[in-house]
Amino acid sequence: MDIHKKFSSCWQRVVESCCSKRLKPNEPEPEKQDTGVNIDPGSTHQPEPTSAISRPLPPTPVAVQPVQRYIALFDYSARTEEDLSFNTGDILEALDKSPGEWWIARALTGVSASQQGYIPANYVAPVESIDAEPWYFPDTKRQDAERMLLAEGNDQGAFLIRNSESLKGELSLSVLDKGKVKHYKLQKLENGYVYVSKTKPFATIKELVDYYTEQANGLCVRLGEPCKKMQMEAPQTYGLSYNTVDLWEIERQSIELKRKLGAGQFGEVHEGLWNGTTSVAVKTLKPGSMDPIDFLQEAQIMKKLRHPKLIQLYAVCTTEEPIYIITELMKNGSLLEYLQKDRGTTLQITDQIEMAAQVAAGMAYLESQNYIHRDLAARNVLVGENNICKVADFGLARVFMKENENVYEAKEGCKLPVKWTAPEALHENRFTIKSDVWSFGILLYEIMTFGQTPYPGMSNMQAVQWLAKGRRMSCPPNCPTVLHKIMMNCWKENEQVRPTFETLQWQLEDYFDLDTSSYDDSTRY
Ligand code: AMP
Repeated sequence: MDIHKKFSSCWQRVVESCCSKRLKPNEPEPEKQDTGVNIDPGSTHQPEPTSAISRPLPPTPVAVQPVQRYIALFDYSARTEEDLSFNTGDILEALDKSPGEWWIARALTGVSASQQGYIPANYVAPVESIDAEPWYFPDTKRQDAERMLLAEGNDQGAFLIRNSESLKGELSLSVLDKGKVKHYKLQKLENGYVYVSKTKPFATIKELVDYYTEQANGLCVRLGEPCKKMQMEAPQTYGLSYNTVDLWEIERQSIELKRKLGAGQFGEVHEGLWNGTTSVAVKTLKPGSMDPIDFLQEAQIMKKLRHPKLIQLYAVCTTEEPIYIITELMKNGSLLEYLQKDRGTTLQITDQIEMAAQVAAGMAYLESQNYIHRDLAARNVLVGENNICKVADFGLARVFMKENENVYEAKEGCKLPVKWTAPEALHENRFTIKSDVWSFGILLYEIMTFGQTPYPGMSNMQAVQWLAKGRRMSCPPNCPTVLHKIMMNCWKENEQVRPTFETLQWQLEDYFDLDTSSYDDSTRY
């Protein structure tokens, strides 16, 4: 097909211009190994999402010793012949960190001992860094910390250290004491020393832990064993492998479609296996449902949007139809189905708010990148293990819409998300991050009603007319009024006074902190 050929060569040029030369795993080590990407021992193990395109890294000052030895935080099973398999706890030596998200390393221990190959950089942490400590659970929420510490296998004094939810950049210590979990803020002095009690500051967190492992000295209990790690989901790698980060038009034959997961208005979604090794989701688009050039322009941007709460776009097959969009696979499918199936049997208000907060976090990232979703709804949020939620299909609506500037009179057969769409987007085709905020209010309603269709009993037309009179949906049954207030803020007529996603994120994340009277016993010191 001509259009595809034209597109392929133009895409190839884009890719070539973006890709930098990379060292093959078996090429000799480069002379310049000091990559300047030493991980700050105090940093969290997941590096900030960086651009998919590798950049030259600044040279490291001579005085700084590059960190070379890393410990595996998760198991990793090689996906290509050039990858290394390893298990949690294995020690690896980084040989070349310049590719950015995939490093070349040599395994010093474990199944691949003395072999050399690519490893995902976000699966390892420098030996002796806080990330490598068995008690460091950086991204664990206060409630999850309680659930984990109270789980079987933990004894009196079991503890963990996590990022504080209420104070960004600070840490909290959670300890099990007589069947209850206590939380302490780890405060910092101006000189960087940390303390629980101001009279006893420590240069490092490890020293603090070692000290309170010897004696309680004011803590409710002497620290015991680190909290047992429940099965933790390994983070998403950047791209499927080292060579799909930039070159992500992949061979169709490398994808095996295993089973159909669902169907949407533009095609089907299948569970697939890439390279015979890696489970993925494959969206197959109905021929003619979008212009491939248009899609690829958008996909260029979409692939750079990386955040733990966004579904990662891994690769595409666009040289012939049907177009394949390959993304990470989410075990529990769409949030809408998840909510409707559950109807409150296992999900509690805490879970619902936690899920809403995750969506807000993903959207806050899009907001920070000046990107608009355009079709935010529970059907476009996907759920993984442990109620993990990620926003999907961001930006795709624009590609589907583009042919006809007004989506709502657009292509035949389109189901129009009228009930999710802000008035200014509906009437004036004005889509902004603030129209996404409106949709988020509707999504919150879906979460609180376990997937009920908004404006129950009303047709699309009736809902539009009803809204035009200044009416809004009332507080759903069993929904805290604070949450209804948040929805109402999202549905303000004047889009300028609707909250930002950043605000929505912290309002939801802090919901429980604000609600509890004794956040930290440490204030007793
Ligand atoms: P969509 O065409 O995006 O509306 O997807 C249709 C259905 O496929 C959804 O309702 C989900 O149940 C399922 N689905 C879509 N994407 C994924 C994914 N990445 N992982 C798992 N299931 C998915």
